[in-house]
Amino acid sequence: MLQSKVEPSFRESVDIMFNRAVALMDLSPGLEEKIRVCNATYTVRFGVRLRGAIHTFTGYRSVHSEHMEPVKGGIRYAPNVHQDEVEALAALMTYKCALVEAPFGGSKGGLRINPRDWEEHELEQITRRFTYELAKRDLIHPSQNVPAPDMGTGEREMAWIADQYRRMNTTDINAAACVTGKPLNAGGIHGRVEATGRGVQYALREFFRHPEDVAAAKLSGTLEGKRVIVQGLGNVGYHAAKFLSEEDGCKIIGIIERDGALLSKDGLDVEAVAQWIKKHGGVTGYPHVTHKADGARVLEAECDILIPAAMEGVIHLGNAANIKAPLIIEAANGPITAGGDEILREKGCVIIPDMYANAGGVTVSYFEWVKNLSHIRFGRMQRRAEESRTQMLVDELERLSSDKGLGWTLSPTFKSDYLRGAGELELVRSGLDDTMRTAYQSMREVWHSRGDVHDLRTAAYIVSISRVAASYRAKGL
Ligand code: NAD
Repeated sequence: MLQSKVEPSFRESVDIMFNRAVALMDLSPGLEEKIRVCNATYTVRFGVRLRGAIHTFTGYRSVHSEHMEPVKGGIRYAPNVHQDEVEALAALMTYKCALVEAPFGGSKGGLRINPRDWEEHELEQITRRFTYELAKRDLIHPSQNVPAPDMGTGEREMAWIADQYRRMNTTDINAAACVTGKPLNAGGIHGRVEATGRGVQYALREFFRHPEDVAAAKLSGTLEGKRVIVQGLGNVGYHAAKFLSEEDGCKIIGIIERDGALLSKDGLDVEAVAQWIKKHGGVTGYPHVTHKADGARVLEAECDILIPAAMEGVIHLGNAANIKAPLIIEAANGPITAGGDEILREKGCVIIPDMYANAGGVTVSYFEWVKNLSHIRFGRMQRRAEESRTQMLVDELERLSSDKGLGWTLSPTFKSDYLRGAGELELVRSGLDDTMRTAYQSMREVWHSRGDVHDLRTAAYIVSISRVAASYRAKGL
């Protein structure tokens, strides 16, 4: 129970959720404390000469846990990013990596900046300088600390970071592995841009494979026809909404953005809305559907699945009681405060927690890091060999059919699908799908097998914390 009805900070929220889980575990108080605390946060203030004047920027890189190295976590660009937020996000990274068995500790970075205030070449200068400040302290390093994109950053910023690191470490053959989420032509991997949204889709697919879990959310059937509201049509929200509507038959009945929300009972065209936002900077004016100026209120609308995919703290003590969605999947990090979480749990809402739901990004980042260290694209050695073997099988079947006069024919689509060897994208998606299924099953096992665990978030924390604890114990702590 929360002691008071005062909204905790983001970091306090993470700690409250952590404490709820460790209360059900048998850890020594010392080890519990060691796992919970953030090891270090580096704050840097640096100046860049732009538009004829020196501008000072503040950045952070927080390292939560080094039980495994490198540590991993995105860098966000936002005007009010602060230490508490970065530390909360770094802690979530530790638990997330442990849950999906990505061999990293947790870290996170932030730069206090509104990217919309600056031209592209200015952002490049700022990013390069921030990179320099972090890299010279090994806070960007292939074997120590590997950033990735987050809110306000993407492939472009990751390419600048990688290039700046390489300039500072000209003989490091593994320099490309200093950051993930890079564009393909700068050492990236197929499927990284879509990865977090794709992971949300795979998480929901896995959830709907378990009728007992679906019933716990007072839902039934499959994803087909489910009414979905998404908050934030950025990298994560856009991909999740697009894949769920185009591939699983979900109806995206609401999209909430900074400047309001769009509603349509028949389902919105995600691609068309995304193009509109790109052109007009927001959802305002999008034709033929209902527009609500107070977007946040739309979180409270009737739907089957609510996907907060924008930012932290959007469901809180003030609005949790009004939320009607029986199932929430936290695509963003920390979208539900500890206070909001308690209210929702009491109402019987099922929450698929952030540390699992948005782990697709770090999972594919892990694949990219491995690709960079192995200096070879996934599938390059096997693809054609695999195709030759399947071709042999198809040829032999066809020969047998003709020799015996059976008249069997394989359909052309089956043949072309079956004969095509897996390329990098197929392998990445397969690895991601496997990771999301396995991680869900590990959470679910704790959720259903222990009488004292009543929600997926507590189960997720228990799985993660036990793994981190095992790794500290193995180090002799
Ligand atoms: P993004 O910057 O690409 O998109 C965020 C979107 O949310 C934007 O479209 C923005 O306009 C919208 N938004 C911002 N404030 C809003 C508000 N108050 N109401 C409604 N919409 C609002 O960021 P992203 O990379 O998609 O990240 C979104 C969330 O997902 C963050 O919490 C981030 O930490 C988390 N996440 C991202 C990744 C990744 O790979 N990018 C991985 C894991 C978790």
